[in-house]
Amino acid sequence: MKNHSADIAIVGAGILGLAHAYAAARAGKRVVVFERSPQAAGASVRNFGMIWPIGQPSGELLQLALRSRAIWLEILTAAHLPYLNTGSLHLTYRHDEAAVAQEFASIAPGLGYNCRWLTPAQVLEKSQAVQPQGLLGALWSDTELTVDPRQILAALPAFLAQRYGVQFHFSTAVRAINPPCLESATARWHASQFLICSGEDFETLYPNHFAASGLTRCKLQMLRTAPQPTGWQLGPSLAAGLTLRFYPAFGVCSTLPALQARIAHETPEFDRWAIHALVSQTADGALTLGDSHQYGLAVDVFNKSEIDDLILNYTHSFLRAPETRVAERWYGVYAKHPDKTLLWIDPEPTVRIIASPGGSGMTLSMGLGEKMIRELGIA
Ligand SMILES: Cc1cc2nc3c(=O)[nH]c(=O)nc-3n(C[C@H](O)[C@H](O)[C@H](O)COP(=O)(O)OP(=O)(O)OC[C@H]3O[C@@H](n4cnc5c(N)ncnc54)[C@H](O)[C@@H]3O)c2cc1C
Repeated sequence: MKNHSADIAIVGAGILGLAHAYAAARAGKRVVVFERSPQAAGASVRNFGMIWPIGQPSGELLQLALRSRAIWLEILTAAHLPYLNTGSLHLTYRHDEAAVAQEFASIAPGLGYNCRWLTPAQVLEKSQAVQPQGLLGALWSDTELTVDPRQILAALPAFLAQRYGVQFHFSTAVRAINPPCLESATARWHASQFLICSGEDFETLYPNHFAASGLTRCKLQMLRTAPQPTGWQLGPSLAAGLTLRFYPAFGVCSTLPALQARIAHETPEFDRWAIHALVSQTADGALTLGDSHQYGLAVDVFNKSEIDDLILNYTHSFLRAPETRVAERWYGVYAKHPDKTLLWIDPEPTVRIIASPGGSGMTLSMGLGEKMIRELGIA
């Protein structure tokens, strides 16, 4: 078995692994990344590609999301990678939804968000993709970015390798870490710090620490339309009333319980599958639609058409797009702690496991990578 060395060894080339590789390489460290698949195939290529600060609660997480957004812009610009800086709209069609969005718009600027309430006419000026019938207005926020996750996760390793000399070993599962050594099937690496960004793989490395952590899994069903006609732009990414009850940011609103109660009473199927609806656009013009949330360590490998139908029917109540045919369906899984968005575990000195921040990994990744590298004294 061959012996090699690096300063920092990272397990996983999902967005968390890449974010940590970027932060460590910028600090002048020799970085090596191991990914067991031929290319990243986990949650990071299965998501909406939304960098979504508006969903984070005010305080530490919102600040981390905004810092993360700034780093995203820096790396995307340096790597000449495309992104959409379009902001977001939370559309409202019911009075209880409008009440939450308006209340949030009145409180949020004082909490560090950059958002405001828009009338229907103002919404329709910003987006050609919104159903005008019954529209009461929307919460507009200008901080949301969209990347095409498949494109970005494929391109960033090449950029990190070329610009910073980060070494990538794809199709290489890490089977053990015994500091200062890491073992793959074919090589042994020495490093002074190990970072485990293995997503929802809790079994391969330090299984006892994962088992004791309280982490579970969350499965999400997703769909994508065929590409829209050339030149048709979604504009701002779209969310609607169901999302107002989903993200913790809106927990500050006194009007939220009434909305939650109405949805629970009127359409309990949305709560049963924890469905809300988001729409983003990919590089080829298709629209990514989702999602649902099923929690538990055992992931159901079979998708439910009932869930897809609920997502599609709800989405078409607010989305107006020329191409609505579904071209792709898939599911994704992320690691989820019931209470903590951020979770890291140090199973032994020089080894840190960084659990994916649930449904906010794209949003928080870059900021989290910088924070971890700084806190570990690497930068
Ligand atoms: C459907 C869906 C939609 C989402 N939408 C959004 C969104 O729009 N915005 C947002 O902010 N967040 C979103 N999220 C959350 C976000 O995608 C995740 O938080 C994030 O991708 C987690 O990144 P990760 O690098 O931790 O995990 P992953 O992307 O799963 O990467 C982990 C990698 O580690 C590799 N690996 C594991 N064990 C080993 C080993 N022993 N050796 C070598 N390699 C190993 C795996 O092969 C995998 O590639 C979504 C998630 C899903 C599933």
